[in-house]
Amino acid sequence: MKMRKKVFASFVLTGVMMAALSTSAFAQYGTNGIAAVGTSALNSKWGTNFQSTYSLGQTHAQIGVLKENLKKWRSYNPSLFTGVQAITSTSNYFDQATKDNLIVFQKAKGLTADGIYGAASRNAMHASMGVSPKGWVRIANTSYYINYNDTKAGLAADAAYKLDHSWVTTSTKSTLDSIAKSFYSAYSKKLEINDASLMDGYDTPEHATHMDGKSVDVRNKFGTTAMTAAQEKKFLELAVANPNVKEVLFYKNHGLTSAKIKVRADHADHFHLTTVN
Ligand SMILES: [Zn+2]
Repeated sequence: MKMRKKVFASFVLTGVMMAALSTSAFAQYGTNGIAAVGTSALNSKWGTNFQSTYSLGQTHAQIGVLKENLKKWRSYNPSLFTGVQAITSTSNYFDQATKDNLIVFQKAKGLTADGIYGAASRNAMHASMGVSPKGWVRIANTSYYINYNDTKAGLAADAAYKLDHSWVTTSTKSTLDSIAKSFYSAYSKKLEINDASLMDGYDTPEHATHMDGKSVDVRNKFGTTAMTAAQEKKFLELAVANPNVKEVLFYKNHGLTSAKIKVRADHADHFHLTTVN
């Protein structure tokens, strides 16, 4: 009974916090209750004051959000926290308990367990607890594709703003799943899915055409290896054949004549795929 009461109290607190956030500027940045990170370029664009990381000894409003996130995640996974002190303070101060709880989270997610909250931890928190009011879903690694945004290279490539471009509509997700599965059965290669949208499509400095949850970039590179011409053609064929694909932008059509393929010289290192729904 005590336990239930405690969990209930934490939900009430989170509910109040979410309500406050949804009316603030904070919510429009696609963070929706998850502690945000950013860079000076992002801050000057959005008028925010996000840090790229938060760590022991610092004080920041996003640290208060992080502490609520960790408390909530802990309530879902209590057995992982045996012997780890609970976060009791609701202040914006990053105390030792915050660091200890964050390390448990990072270990569980296979991240560098350094107790410093940055873009990789933010992405993992989004994936674990991020709730899109529009019902969008976050792309995760599957048997058939990799979410490049969650790789070290992908995180480094996003150094300018440190945003999480991994959100799509459920039908876009199904479309990706289907194309990637077919591609994998042909080549035993996972597609690398790069930027989709921010949660719920809010403004992004990088991708003005990526605000609808229906647009996603697919790399025609696999790490340092490029797709072969045959693989690029196969991807185009699969995309064209999928009824939910509206168009795909790429620098060549490989002899295919579908109206869905738009040849764009500036799309040599990725396919830009847009779905109908
Ligand atoms: Zn694109």
